[in-house]
Amino acid sequence: MRFEISKVLDAIEGRVCTDPSLARAVVDLAEVIRYQDIDGGRPASLLRLGMVIDALSRELEEDSVQVYAVVHRALLSDADLTSNERMVVRRWADDGLVEVLDNPGDRMLEVADLLGLPVLSRVRFDGLRGRFPWLVEQPGRVVAPVPGAGGPVFIAHVGGGHSPVAGKRSPTGVKLLARQWRCPESGCALFGGGGGGGAFADLAGGADRSPAAQPPPSLRNGVPTCPRHGARLGDGGPRPRTEVLAVRVGGLVRRRFVLSEEQPIVAGRAPEQDGGIMLGQWLNDEARRWISRGHVRFELRVGEVIVTDVSTNGSGIRPGGSMTESDRIPLAPQQSRVLGENDMIELYPGVQIGRAEELPTGAPFTPTSVMAEAPTMAMRLPRP
Ligand SMILES: [Zn+2]
Repeated sequence: MRFEISKVLDAIEGRVCTDPSLARAVVDLAEVIRYQDIDGGRPASLLRLGMVIDALSRELEEDSVQVYAVVHRALLSDADLTSNERMVVRRWADDGLVEVLDNPGDRMLEVADLLGLPVLSRVRFDGLRGRFPWLVEQPGRVVAPVPGAGGPVFIAHVGGGHSPVAGKRSPTGVKLLARQWRCPESGCALFGGGGGGGAFADLAGGADRSPAAQPPPSLRNGVPTCPRHGARLGDGGPRPRTEVLAVRVGGLVRRRFVLSEEQPIVAGRAPEQDGGIMLGQWLNDEARRWISRGHVRFELRVGEVIVTDVSTNGSGIRPGGSMTESDRIPLAPQQSRVLGENDMIELYPGVQIGRAEELPTGAPFTPTSVMAEAPTMAMRLPRP
């Protein structure tokens, strides 16, 4: 039992991030874990975060969706959580997967504003409508997770919508996210680099975070500030450009990944390269035989996505996302091509990669539950 729960928490860990390109909604962890009416269990449970993420996945019809969680520091020692859960949250904090704050205040809304994300919360934020007009103007920007037949569902606070709606990054967000930032606090998990990024900056905490994945700074009196340490952030130069790509297998978007100017990314059955995108777990036997361990390589150069076939069997380009067979352009092994705005590369029939916003889920499906490893939890939920 304890082992099973650990596995679920590990699965949930893969679904929390502070990467502005990957997060799909913002949550306040302290709030979500206390939705006791969702499962009728303990006063606080980290597993409820998994249930809310599952609900978001169902709404977005996409697998592996990630959320941006702000965490009140008091939660790290909250006696309502098990010691195991507290340990897990501390690990997330240390790794910069969640944003730990002495006082979250309206940081959740600030993140939503800067990144253009929906907020999953039961709080109405009436007093903040002047500062964040989208609270009223965009129904669905704040939706409340409430108990539903097959797990939590969402209800909008304003207007008729029931689905979380994304907005656009605010002008301030666009400006802040064009730069990389450094926190003077050594070992800062969010804006690492320990004191301005010297030669050994890589050895400081938060070192494996790419500058392209830094969270949005908090703006205090117009000054970019580390939300965790309250320290003024140093400007570390322009942020590397990025492009968000998505993997679609069998009509379902399985995961997104961020391609940055810093390094190429290889996708395939089981790439050996660091940061490679492994597709093996979603492939049937035939696809697995066809697709090489490393099959295609993506590079971002001067704003263009360049795709190179590095496989044994080759792939194909679907120009403009066209699924008509006669439109498919073969891409032979070692051939390269610029991936146009709506183009997809097809590694094998039904296995495609393209720009995330151009690659909708194309078939009815059931997303894989992040809770799949939790038989005891799942049994408490009514079946859909
Ligand atoms: Zn900091």
